[in-house]
Amino acid sequence: MTLRTPRDTDISELAAIVGGEFALTDEGIENYCRDESPDLEAQPSVVLIPADEREISEILRYADDRLLPVVTRGLGTGVAGGAVPFDGAIVLSLERLNRILEIDEDNLMVVTQPAVITGELRRAVEAVGLFYPPDPASLDSCSIGGNFATNAGGMTAVKYGVTRDYVKGFRGVLAGGGIISYGGKLVKNVAGYDLLQIVCGSEGTLAVATELTLKLLPHKRHRVDLLVGFDSVFKSVSAVSEIIRRRIVPSTIEFMEGDIVRIVADALEKSVPMPEAGAQLIISLEADSEEELEKTYFSLGEIAMELGAIDVFVADTTQTRERIWVVRRSMREALRAVSPTIVAEDIAVPRARLAELWKGARELGERFGVRVLSFGHAGDGNLHIDVLKDDLSDDRWNTAMEGFIPALFELAVKLGGTITAEHGIGVLKKPYLPICFGETELSLMAGIKRVFDPNGILNPGKAI
Ligand SMILES: Cc1cc2nc3c(=O)[nH]c(=O)nc-3n(C[C@H](O)[C@H](O)[C@H](O)COP(=O)(O)OP(=O)(O)OC[C@H]3O[C@@H](n4cnc5c(N)ncnc54)[C@H](O)[C@@H]3O)c2cc1C
Repeated sequence: MTLRTPRDTDISELAAIVGGEFALTDEGIENYCRDESPDLEAQPSVVLIPADEREISEILRYADDRLLPVVTRGLGTGVAGGAVPFDGAIVLSLERLNRILEIDEDNLMVVTQPAVITGELRRAVEAVGLFYPPDPASLDSCSIGGNFATNAGGMTAVKYGVTRDYVKGFRGVLAGGGIISYGGKLVKNVAGYDLLQIVCGSEGTLAVATELTLKLLPHKRHRVDLLVGFDSVFKSVSAVSEIIRRRIVPSTIEFMEGDIVRIVADALEKSVPMPEAGAQLIISLEADSEEELEKTYFSLGEIAMELGAIDVFVADTTQTRERIWVVRRSMREALRAVSPTIVAEDIAVPRARLAELWKGARELGERFGVRVLSFGHAGDGNLHIDVLKDDLSDDRWNTAMEGFIPALFELAVKLGGTITAEHGIGVLKKPYLPICFGETELSLMAGIKRVFDPNGILNPGKAI
């Protein structure tokens, strides 16, 4: 089907559904042209900000009848271009669906609208002693609906898993305006195909999620964070698999290459622990009692020293914790300050192959003449591999990237990994999907898209 850009008459009809003040065509529209992906921007024909599921259904019925493209938007923190409205698409911003509907302490579930900020949801359930684990680094600016649509991961995925592991029910709207509802406050459910898990991670291409039911856990009361320095990257990533092999499963194992730690320290103009280290790991441990916590962190400290750690810095107060986490949180910004143009890749491999991934990425950097630095969720086998343009000319940079990116993705797949661990395909990785999948898998995915959205109006050109 060939989609078309909305005309003035379409915009008036659509504006009537949401009410004039919630249909933007001019002032304020600039806030909806991009997400957090570098260098991607497009002007929507109109931004619609519906109040509820009924209005969303009417908008999608109208758009489907007239073959108008629609891009659903959470809070625009995506880094794969998923929320960018190419070709004058309608932006469907869910920002007004921003209420937590119920915290069910009997069933340990929370029912929420999609535009609730993830960090706010976590704090709301924590206030009653409960815990929602998925914690993307963007948690204070992204939405829970966006997390569902991208199957977001986070710092605690090593122990607790990703968004997919917590969504038990959802309601949504399909392209023709129909309502889809699947699951609920259920721990077990094997009735039919799992429509929820098909929509989760589909990046707004199959349905618009309007309500989510999420599983909660009891809140662990005791926690300590350790910063462990190593003289080499190789030793630090080898330690990640060894810690898990010895049956200690921390809630977080974050990896920071020493060169990046030093860049951040300079940018923040702050002294950081172990600045000379070749690499550092931030390891978080939690327990129900102080004794259990102490026992685990002593064993972990011993293992770390046995594996060649330079030192272990223990952070058990708000101030000491802040001292180590500020470095991890400031990485993106600090790297952009030294090189405004960066390509940030998001590769996952089996944990035991992390060292090969790091080394292979470095070698590709040398081969194509670009600086490569890595950090990320090492406990999940997930490295954020950042390629810095520095002062290369545009021509040299573009040529280098044409070679580097496919070579990196081929390396990931050769190591048994994937080209995106948590950021999604969006538009940026779409050309590389055939590196990951064969014809059979790609045609099944295309078939699923046709069943959900026969006219292809939902987030066209994205994800598959
Ligand atoms: C500094 C920074 C750190 C980050 N750290 C992490 C991290 O640790 N882990 C991680 O996984 N990601 C991370 N991200 C990426 C991003 O925050 C996540 O992908 C997040 O889930 C996007 O949520 P959002 O509300 O901003 O969605 P948007 O950017 O608005 O949308 C993302 C995609 O989801 C679709 N979508 C949004 N809401 C819905 C809905 N209700 N129904 C259907 N489709 C919808 C959109 O169409 C789009 O394709 C980070 C981003 C930044 C900028």
